Amino acid sequence: MTAFWTESDFDDHELVQLVRDRQSGLIAIIALHSTHLGPAAGGTRFWHYAEPGEAMRDALRLSRGMSYKNAMAGLPMGGGKAVILAPADKSKTPQMLAAFGDAVEALGGQYVTAEDVGIGEGDMVAVSRRTEYVSGLPVSGEGAAGGDPGPFTAMGIYHGIRAAVRYKLGKDSVEGVHIAIQGTGSVGGGVARLLAKDGARLTLSDINESRAAALAEELGAATASSDAIMGVSCDVFSPNALGAILDDQGIARLDTPIVAGGANNQLARAHHGKVLAERGILYAPDYVINAGGIISVALEYLARRNGEPSDINEVRKRIGHIPERLEEVWRKSDASGESPDVVADRMAQELIGRG
Ligand code: NAD
Repeated sequence: MTAFWTESDFDDHELVQLVRDRQSGLIAIIALHSTHLGPAAGGTRFWHYAEPGEAMRDALRLSRGMSYKNAMAGLPMGGGKAVILAPADKSKTPQMLAAFGDAVEALGGQYVTAEDVGIGEGDMVAVSRRTEYVSGLPVSGEGAAGGDPGPFTAMGIYHGIRAAVRYKLGKDSVEGVHIAIQGTGSVGGGVARLLAKDGARLTLSDINESRAAALAEELGAATASSDAIMGVSCDVFSPNALGAILDDQGIARLDTPIVAGGANNQLARAHHGKVLAERGILYAPDYVINAGGIISVALEYLARRNGEPSDINEVRKRIGHIPERLEEVWRKSDASGESPDVVADRMAQELIGRG
């Protein structure tokens, strides 16, 4: 058996903790990739894994991803992630959440948790009864940061798409620019609304066809089936649904000079960034363009810790810097001949002191 700390996913994690609470039945992994820039921030996933090794891999990969995302967003936060191993029936009890909260508290603020797949706002409120190291709690009051991160993620992607259009197509506006959007949920729907205001030409797609159709009617957009959206001839393809869509077949179908969207882990494998670049397609690395939500969540947490009101204008200002980060990645990529995902990873590693 190979030790997991010799595997590439381990990537020098600072701490990996296995939490077991017999009374509640909780089994969880808390992985802290880096605290170089500040407390390791990243959500908690509640998922049933057929094979426990998968849970460890998920925790390690997601935790490293949060390190890179937080660093590239310019946040004073490191990266971490927690995974609660759900039982086969996915039952989740208040006792489990309480025991998980105690485990986060015991880390003394090295790890700050938040919602992720399988964990809702109510669950995080339950966790926050046992630990103060929780972000993304419901917010009250106008002008406050925090709350649902979707609209902030959408705002960052909107700015990122405009930056890509400027960089690749030399256009200062998206008016008349054809953008194909895969997924019209919280993020994709928000991106579509912002682009429509600027007069972009939109083609929308969702496996929930009535959702895409309703939004298309509201915005005067076209629709495409979920099978067809990746082959639509357009100026920008914006993936806002699933990860791993940029594989050999997916990339071969693209008929666009730009891929810029919010879905996490869009590249099926590491080399697919290079495959995109070889086709002359400009790629906006996912964790750079989709950082708007974490910016909002992190600033809400930091303000609360400092006993200050959170400031939505500061969130907007920081999200407004996402295009500069992307342009830096693209310029370095053009200069070095390496694909943007490789350049972004290296920039992130330098920021967390591992250059
Ligand atoms: P969501 O559940 O609100 O929306 C996703 C939409 O995609 C749904 O309408 C769903 O029906 C649709 N969909 C699923 N499979 C599809 C397919 N094959 N083709 C077309 N549509 C499909 O989720 P969301 O919050 O909008 O997140 C979208 C993506 O962005 C996810 O990958 C998520 O991890 C990522 N992301 C979200 C945030 C955030 O703040 N919500 C932040 C960073 C990254």
